[in-house]
Amino acid sequence: MSETWNQRTKLVHGGTRRSQYNEVSEAIFLTQGFVYDSAEQAEARFIETGPDEFIYARYGNPTVDMFEKRMAALEGAEDAFAAASGMAAVNGALTSLVKAGDHVVSAKALFGSCNYILADVLGRFGVEVTFIDGTDLEAWRAAVRPDTKAVFFESMSNPTLEVIDIAGVAEIARAAGATVVVDNVFSTPVFSRAIEQGADVVIYSATKHIDGQGRALGGVVLGTKEYIRGTLEPYMKHTGGSLSPFNAWVMLKGLETISLRVNAQAESALQIAGALDGHPALARMIYPGLPGHAQNALVQTQLGGKGGTVLSLDLKGGKAAAFKFLNALTIPVISNNLGDAKSIATHPATTTHQRLSDALKVELGITPGLVRFSVGLEDTDDLIADLTAALEAASV
Ligand SMILES: *Cc1c(COP(=O)(O)O)cnc(C)c1O
Repeated sequence: MSETWNQRTKLVHGGTRRSQYNEVSEAIFLTQGFVYDSAEQAEARFIETGPDEFIYARYGNPTVDMFEKRMAALEGAEDAFAAASGMAAVNGALTSLVKAGDHVVSAKALFGSCNYILADVLGRFGVEVTFIDGTDLEAWRAAVRPDTKAVFFESMSNPTLEVIDIAGVAEIARAAGATVVVDNVFSTPVFSRAIEQGADVVIYSATKHIDGQGRALGGVVLGTKEYIRGTLEPYMKHTGGSLSPFNAWVMLKGLETISLRVNAQAESALQIAGALDGHPALARMIYPGLPGHAQNALVQTQLGGKGGTVLSLDLKGGKAAAFKFLNALTIPVISNNLGDAKSIATHPATTTHQRLSDALKVELGITPGLVRFSVGLEDTDDLIADLTAALEAASV
């Protein structure tokens, strides 16, 4: 593989390793273990595992290794560790890093399961977490302390699509010696330059755009070789959050087309947001790619002007209108994944973010009328017509 390759070449060829058969498509090594030629060789491999050597699929596997190398090449990271799901990645990235007595600062606008790890899990083990408004750099400056071990945020938050200034937060965190951990799902690995912008650790749920066709769970953590192999890998390989070889293969094939898919989805999302913005049934149309979005300037500098593949609609009629709207859709499906080829509509307040308290939902803008809409690969005009008809149905 060449360092000078551009993104789309890395997506197709990055990390590819062929077996003795010289197959074209990446091989699935669906094996949990590996045979040693001798007892001495087994002993030696447990002392030091060489680059082409494997022990057990929980520790590593050739197909999983290809996925990790392709992701590292794509993100411009030194190394990567593939996880069983996005949440295994978030949990491993944070839990392997902190210990009792440490302090963590986190943006408060988080996906429900991320909120569980920060608000419940870390606290139970004696880690103090301070939650702030992630879009406010002054709030980060005020919250970071000499004992702050890590900062955590979703670079584009789920589901209200706040965009957080990676370079700005990284500058503040680094001055305090804190590790910058970014959940980058909504930014997608195609639009992201998070490592270059100062993130130390970047996390993706591969379940979303990397698979992109709703088939398999997966996750990945990217960072320096020292962090990935020294800090994260021992935690992941002994606690069991490793990615299955079959799912790694699904993700490798997903990466081949991800650039085409998310660029088309983002283009469609911009057109849909523009067409529906100001519709009388809507209290708010949230899409970071729209010029009126509060962090649109950051979208230009941080994401190359791409507003992502998800938009959120806030219906004036609250939950009843949101449910009418969802039930009137004929092309998008009601579900809770995102980044899929199929457009997916979600009511966060009653599903993905149900576990948050009512007070926190209000604070985060997760209103009863809010619908998260993940734009798929269907024809844009068909989607606009269907969404418009559903808005009409929700208004009566
Ligand atoms: C979906 C999601 C996750 C979790 O990913 P899974 O693969 O479902 O475990 C984490 N963070 C964000 C922002 C997500 O959207």
